[in-house]
Amino acid sequence: MTGIEAEVDIATKDKDYVWHSMKPYNPDATMIAEKAEGSWVTDHTGKRYLDAMSGLWCVNVGYGRTELAEAAYEQLKTMAYFPLSQSHRPGILLAEKLNEMLGEEYVIFFSNSGSEANETAFKIVRQYHQQKGDHHRYKFISRYRAYHGNSMGALSATGQAERKYKYEPLAPGFIKVAPPDEYREPEENPLKLKSVEEIDRVMTWEMSETIAAVIMEPIITGGGVIMPHENYLSGVQEVCQKHGALLIVDEVICGFGRTGEAFGFMNYGVKPDIITMAKGITSAYLPLSATAVKKEIYDAFKGTESYDYFRHVNTFGGNPAACALALKNLEIMEKEKLFERSKMKGSFLKETLANLLKENAYVGDVRGKGLLIGIELVKDKETKEPLAVELVNQVIAGCKASGVIIGKNGATVAGYNNVLTLAPPLNITDEDLQFSIETITNELNKL
Ligand code: PMP
Repeated sequence: MTGIEAEVDIATKDKDYVWHSMKPYNPDATMIAEKAEGSWVTDHTGKRYLDAMSGLWCVNVGYGRTELAEAAYEQLKTMAYFPLSQSHRPGILLAEKLNEMLGEEYVIFFSNSGSEANETAFKIVRQYHQQKGDHHRYKFISRYRAYHGNSMGALSATGQAERKYKYEPLAPGFIKVAPPDEYREPEENPLKLKSVEEIDRVMTWEMSETIAAVIMEPIITGGGVIMPHENYLSGVQEVCQKHGALLIVDEVICGFGRTGEAFGFMNYGVKPDIITMAKGITSAYLPLSATAVKKEIYDAFKGTESYDYFRHVNTFGGNPAACALALKNLEIMEKEKLFERSKMKGSFLKETLANLLKENAYVGDVRGKGLLIGIELVKDKETKEPLAVELVNQVIAGCKASGVIIGKNGATVAGYNNVLTLAPPLNITDEDLQFSIETITNELNKL
């Protein structure tokens, strides 16, 4: 078989056998990735792309880190598997390390994906209230436009109708509130945020005694990098405390340096009751996720009756090789000061793009924290009417043709499919950052 025949062959097999996620049925547009190094991915035809989205916002230390492969390999040889219903050294050491990063107050339950980490959180919360004799607290509050996962509970917490309506009815007891949005609806009074008052009001109308928890990302990522007011998260925590509800912070994307801090909530001076994390925990080299739970919540599960235990089991959760790899990943992040780097390079990226694009008629807003950036495209800067999705797609396709992969996020149902997103590896080189800035600017200036 010639090289070209082999390329055609693998593309045909892809069309015949693989059901791709998150995509209209269009196998012709599929990129078949073969290898990757640093921030660059090479496809099966040999074309190279700068991956300014780190896959799905997750390859935080960049591709091609042989230290990570070796850490997993060594552990696989020593002991490939043992369940965490018992214990093992890599799991224990990783839990200790996460605690150090979080501030020594949490116990860690390991799973495999962000969705599972959130499911675990929901079950812990519901049982926690039961353990305390608070039998009416079962409702969760989350925000429209946020994404929390693909499983039935995590999807119930998700506020993106287009992802949900084919699978409804979903789990009962998930209530939505509007997200804050500093671009479209900036708060007028920093000491009295409307978006926080809304949550307070909803909790009262729903009956305080029925509210189990609020779940939110520090910054909504997949909904379009929507920035809250700086006082929002601390305001939400106060409201939770007032009504006796727990605060779950979903750090699946915002964690592990993405926003310039170890965890996104650290930008906002809060201490969540539960923190869920995935993606960057292993920089996506192997599947792993975690649900970090305040010790006092964990302590409520200590009982004498066997049915007091947390009856939640996860076969693969906390696989020893994934934990060993995660420890090495966190070591790299520390050694290379990647959180600080994300903060510094993120500010540079945001300011440079904002400057270069300020005359562009369609760039309404350039925003973000750390290396989490959104560029909101509008038809008209005054009315902020979203730019037509065809034009947004044109920019994305143009960037890809020029060798840069960027993302598109928003809310399809509301016509807000108009935010370009950037979340490159935290160690992206200055040269690669410059290349992505030039490419995006060029494509936007063609509009
Ligand atoms: N929470 C957030 C904020 C996410 O962005 C995602 C996935 N993109 C999830 C949860 C679910 O993670 P997973 O796809 O690993 O199940």
